[in-house]
Amino acid sequence: MNTERRPGEEADAIDVLTRLSALLPPRRAAEFGQLLADHRAEHGAAALRTDVSAHRRLARLAASLPPAAEVVADADLLAALSEATALADPSLYQTFLSHYTLCVGSLVLLGGKAADPDGALAHARTKGSFLVTEIGDAGSHLGIRTEARFDPARRAFTLHTPDHRAAKFSSVAALGLPQQAVVCARLLTGAQNGGVFSFLVDITGADGRPAPGVSVSGPLPVGALPLPYGLVRFHGARIPYDRWLADGAGIDATGVLHDPQPSADARLQRTLSCGQGLWATLPSAMAGLAGRSAAMAWRFSAGRRSHGRLAPGSPVLEYRTQQHAVVGALAAAFSLRCTARAALSTWAGLRAARPSDGPGTAMTFSPWAAVDRSLALYKAHSTRAVADLVDSLQHRCGVSGLFDHNRLPGYLGFARAFDNAGGDNTLILLDAGRALAEERARPDRRSAGPGRFPSDQGRFPADPTDAAWWPAVVTALQDRLADDLAAAASARTEALRRSLHRSPHRSLHRDLDLWNPLLEDALELGDVQARRLAAEAAVEGSTAHRRGWPVPQAADLAALDGLRQARCLAGPLLATGVLTPSAVRALPAAMDALCDRLRQALPDIVAALDPGAGLARTALDEPDYAAALLAAHGASAGASAGASAGSSTGSSDRTGSTS
Ligand SMILES: Cc1cc2nc3c(=O)[nH]c(=O)nc-3n(C[C@H](O)[C@H](O)[C@H](O)COP(=O)(O)OP(=O)(O)OC[C@H]3O[C@@H](n4cnc5c(N)ncnc54)[C@H](O)[C@@H]3O)c2cc1C
Repeated sequence: MNTERRPGEEADAIDVLTRLSALLPPRRAAEFGQLLADHRAEHGAAALRTDVSAHRRLARLAASLPPAAEVVADADLLAALSEATALADPSLYQTFLSHYTLCVGSLVLLGGKAADPDGALAHARTKGSFLVTEIGDAGSHLGIRTEARFDPARRAFTLHTPDHRAAKFSSVAALGLPQQAVVCARLLTGAQNGGVFSFLVDITGADGRPAPGVSVSGPLPVGALPLPYGLVRFHGARIPYDRWLADGAGIDATGVLHDPQPSADARLQRTLSCGQGLWATLPSAMAGLAGRSAAMAWRFSAGRRSHGRLAPGSPVLEYRTQQHAVVGALAAAFSLRCTARAALSTWAGLRAARPSDGPGTAMTFSPWAAVDRSLALYKAHSTRAVADLVDSLQHRCGVSGLFDHNRLPGYLGFARAFDNAGGDNTLILLDAGRALAEERARPDRRSAGPGRFPSDQGRFPADPTDAAWWPAVVTALQDRLADDLAAAASARTEALRRSLHRSPHRSLHRDLDLWNPLLEDALELGDVQARRLAAEAAVEGSTAHRRGWPVPQAADLAALDGLRQARCLAGPLLATGVLTPSAVRALPAAMDALCDRLRQALPDIVAALDPGAGLARTALDEPDYAAALLAAHGASAGASAGASAGSSTGSSDRTGSTS
């Protein structure tokens, strides 16, 4: 107890150390403050991820793969590799993505294959990254400030970071390794601002030390997806002309740029088109995580006795709440796999140069939806859905869901990181929602946006356990939200026009005045649009057994996932009048009915949906979980892990952990 407590303002201060200094004797308060500071520093040091093991593993994997350009050209291979690396180790996936899909993907897409003459990137002897984000501004991708200035005398470029706010971010603090990066920078020649192009830049030399004109910060730990991240700045780094990924553009002898792209936005869209490969294949990785996580949670719940007094000794999976979460997760995993297939097929269409999803999407919040709206929506939907799913399953697995060795924490960190990474989901949904409302306001464009199911407002199948119910409901919801937003935008446009007439200099940002009060609605519409695409994919996938993907009771799984989503969206469904209160109240009973229908088939469903039972097995998969855990981790602190029982779980956990 503090016998020296001093009266005064310290006791009410907001700063906790100040308050402690009023509650403890001064010497103790100072000691305590120092201890906390030491702990913070220690914790930071422990969490630092300076190791380059994921990068080194990538190089080993590359040795058994075709040259990187061939991997990037084969969508199915790229998707399968994305999924396998993500299941084994999300950090390895992130390295794979940066190197193959984004760095080499840019070379392939933008005509820069010649920039890698000795095949160092092709075989990952040099680690490739992709540097677009600038750390100091929000939405930096629409206002890239890194400059590549053309020197007509040398016919080369010099790369500059104009100030600290334009420092770029990626997993480049892996000093000791040879590294290159595709860097997005504004091309300047004479007085001409040529827009944003990509350049292949040496980040380090062969000795692994920063290349001339490049500085790399110390490591910035990201616990959710650990890699040696860092900030990069350029101070006049020399870029030879053939390291410019010119994509059909050229600079003539007088230093004038000629670009076939008609505008700066069109150029930016091309430069960032490597994102298509990411958004086409990331849903496969997400589907893999969903299937693996749901399978683990199902095995765990099915075999776990509960001492609840309603039915002592019954498996916890007997309880409806657990069923809705765990069987529901299997249903979601099914839908996410269908979404992944739809994303790949959309990408195949784009690569075959078929027109994409109708009207272009304006680059208002970010460039992503403009690069391709459907693919960006598939990415946003899958990453958010998997983050929610793994989050829920972690809870359903109790403390075991939090054990790193059971993989759910790593999977959750990965999915959450990609809420921002790979194109910010909120910005994708805002652009998509706003674009759809604008199309809706123009009857000639109505059916042109992504989505194939016709609107059928108010006339859904009567039975919510019918697989066709949710696609019809979510389509009606999308259309009503779009009509409401279009009407609200039109009313605000008219009101602002009148107010502008009265006082012409009222606002510098008319578009912001118009849209700011509508942004939550635009975001909701973007989300519903993404769910609609996913619902269509799930219904199509539920007939896919005819095309060689046998998932038992696929239609019931699609229906159950639809019901889960309807429950999440009960608010907007009621607010728009798409569903009545009694229809919403009936949803849990419909989920019960589907869980009962699926019960017998669950082992076969799990087998059909789990892509990583061998690759990423954990103790949660074992019939006797406690025995598997003890076998893998020892009965006492000194016991050698996995020494007994020869558990495959133990050994795969150790080798598969994110080291
Ligand atoms: C694990 C990880 C790895 C990454 N690796 C790379 C990499 O290798 N290379 C690379 O270039 N980048 C990388 N990134 C960065 C990533 O691309 C960005 O985080 C992402 O694009 C978002 O940009 P930002 O972080 O600058 O956020 P901001 O753009 O600052 O956004 C912050 C928040 O503000 C919101 N916001 C921004 N603008 C608006 C607006 N106009 N209206 C309303 N809301 C807005 C966003 O939705 C977001 O919620 C990585 C990120 C992560 C998490």
